[in-house]
Formats: sequence, C-alpha cells, structure tokens
Amino acid sequence: MTRIYLSPPHLGTHERDLLIEALDSGWIAPLGPQLDAFEAEFAASIEADHAVGVVSGTAALHLALLVLGVGAGDDVLVPTMTFAATANAVTYVGARPCFIDSEPSSWNVDPELLDLELSERAARDALPKAAIIVDLYGQCADYNRIVPLFHKYGIPIIEDAAEALGAKYDDRPAGSFGAISIFSFNGNKIITTSGGGMLVSPNREWVERARYLATQARDPAPHYQHSQIGYNYRLSNLLAAVGRGQLLRLPERVEARRATNRFYRQALAGVSGIQFMPEIDGGRSTFWLTCILIDEQETGVTPDDIRQHLESLDIESRPVWKPMHLQPVFHGNPMREGAVAEDLFKRGLCLPSGSSLSEPDKERIVAELVALLSEQRTVSDRRIPGGTLPTAGSGTGKDR
Ligand SMILES: *Cc1c(COP(=O)(O)O)cnc(C)c1O
Repeated sequence: MTRIYLSPPHLGTHERDLLIEALDSGWIAPLGPQLDAFEAEFAASIEADHAVGVVSGTAALHLALLVLGVGAGDDVLVPTMTFAATANAVTYVGARPCFIDSEPSSWNVDPELLDLELSERAARDALPKAAIIVDLYGQCADYNRIVPLFHKYGIPIIEDAAEALGAKYDDRPAGSFGAISIFSFNGNKIITTSGGGMLVSPNREWVERARYLATQARDPAPHYQHSQIGYNYRLSNLLAAVGRGQLLRLPERVEARRATNRFYRQALAGVSGIQFMPEIDGGRSTFWLTCILIDEQETGVTPDDIRQHLESLDIESRPVWKPMHLQPVFHGNPMREGAVAEDLFKRGLCLPSGSSLSEPDKERIVAELVALLSEQRTVSDRRIPGGTLPTAGSGTGKDR
C-alpha cells in the first residue's frame, strides 16, 4: 500500500503539453506569452479585473501591502487562525500584525471582534492601516458582515484566498472581496505550479504597480534605471504553462474535494465525538482540507493520538494551524480574545483531502478511523465512573 498524503499535487494531461509548448517556443526567459495567458485566464475564471502572476502567495501578500502603502509603524489586523505567511508578510514591510480570534461558526475571523477592535481603535485614534482577511481551509470569511466594518473607516481589506481558489460566498468567487486579493499555487494548494501565486484587484493601477515592483521596479528607460526598491517576484513563463493546464481542471478539483468532504461526513456520521468544520450560510467552501474536531472525553483519544495512529499506517494527517498568537515569533503582539482559535488548535485535525484521493483510499482512512474510535469507546465504556483509563493509549482518559 502506498502512502496517503494530506494534499498532494494533482497533475492532469494538459500541464505536460503546455509545458512542452513553452519549452519549444524558446520562451525560457522568465516572462512570456504563457504568463500573459495564465494571468488573463486566471482573472477570467474568478471574474477578477486584473491579475499579476508571482513566485508565491507570500510574495503576493508582500506586494499587496506595499501597494496599499503599509509600512513601518503601521498596524495590520490579521486572523490568529492562519498559516504564518499571512502574518510574516506584514512584518516584511515593517508593520505589526495584530491578531483577532476566530468565530466558531466558520473558524474564520470573528466579525464581532473586528467591530469591537475597530471602534476601540477609532476612539483612541489608532486605526489599523489595513486588514488581511483569510479564507480558511477553502471557506470564505463572512464578508457581508466584515466588509461594511472596514468600509466605514476607509480601511482596505486584503483577501488572503491562498486556500480558497474556487470557493464562493454570496454567489461571488473567493478573491472578489478584497481591495487586493491573493492566491497561492504552492504544491499542496488546490491547483499548483509547484510554487507560485497571483495578485488580483479591481483596481488596474494597483495591479500595474504590483507588476512594476515585482519586476525589479525598472523605470521606463532603455538603460537600467531605478527610482524605487524593486523585487524579483514574477512567476516564470514555464511555471505559468503548468498553471494554465491546472486551471482547466479547477471546477473538477473543487468538486472532488467537496465530494471527499461529503464522504467523510457520511461515513463518520455515526461516530460520536467528531464534529466537522462548519460551512457558513451562503458560502460554498472548496473544502481544500477536511477538518474535524475531536472530543477527547467522548472518543477517548486526542487528535494527536489519531494523527500518530494514521501515521503508523502511512496515512498523513495534520493538526490545524497553530494560532499566530501562540507562535514564539509573535510573542507579545496585540491579540484580541483567542480562546476559540486555541480550542480549534487543541481539538482539530486535518484529514487527507487531495483531489486525487481514490475511493479505496477514502474507504481505508475511514475504516481505520472507525476502528480506532470504536476500540477506544469499548475501553472507555468499561471505565469505572470517575476513574482514569488504565490503558497505555497516550493521552487518553485525561479529565479537563
Ligand atoms: C499557502 C498560504 C500562503 C502562502 O502561499 P505560498 O504560495 O506558499 O507562499 C498564505 N496564506 C495562506 C492562508 C496559505 O495557506
């Protein structure tokens, strides 16, 4: 049996053809027609007006912050429940990430806490320069509640849709809610160029500015002239060819991940002590990753017991993101609340969710989960009331 990965790259047939076409055309120089075409096709697929392809989602975040004029001494609101790249980019421009807790109903940033944060900051004349709103695990944040909060103060939102390409909210695609929005084509994301990213915006000037900064900030002159600090952040023409091939299959990839999520929900419906990451009203998640919460008291196991057990069977699973306010590198950064994200981290587990996951593999994962959890339950049923579990199963029987 081969190893089951969490979210491996899923290649089709078009990538190879397009890549060969790019190689044969001689456009090995970083920029070229494949990149132009990828940007145009990508923008069209998510109804974005303008797009620029870059080397990573992180680079796209960095450029978004630069374009919006975020700099030294500024504060930027960031959900604590995210991947580190979201917060790291804020520090690249000398600004400070200020973290906000999640809401249990979507796991995304809590709009009520954002409201509170903004009104308190307005009162002491310390409004943030921008906010990055993350679409976690393929699910858009609750923008109908979030956008008006920032609109009121004229503060721009950067939508970090790195995990949410193909998602919808209120019938609009992920990536259409930010003043600037970004995507990632890292190997584990819903489509991949092995490494890459995209910045999109309805504002042409901002996208042109990002393109300029990403191309070493060259002034329009025949010689090499620079009046600003630039970056070497453009996606290469070869990788853009791979991206075009991947993009052709996007709707199927989203469907496959949603089907996997449905499969897990149905197959584990009878197992008490497991909850799934909720899908919010009006939202259509891609379920980039299917995430569950484990009730240790009910199941007799911790998420890490499950992870280690699956690992012993060559099945990869992962804890949910460790909240940013718990990261040593952000120790001391401002934080609003935090108990919800801490609880998600403590109880959460991401299950194998790749779009290439086969039916037999899905069956195998679920069979192993059900076997483990029913075995634990049999043990805990025999448990003396009030007593602790006598077995060696790690982390079992702990009282909270
Ligand atoms: C993957 C990811 C990024 C970074 O994208 P890269 O292409 O890996 O740089 C940023 N934010 C979130 C939420 C991500 O999941």
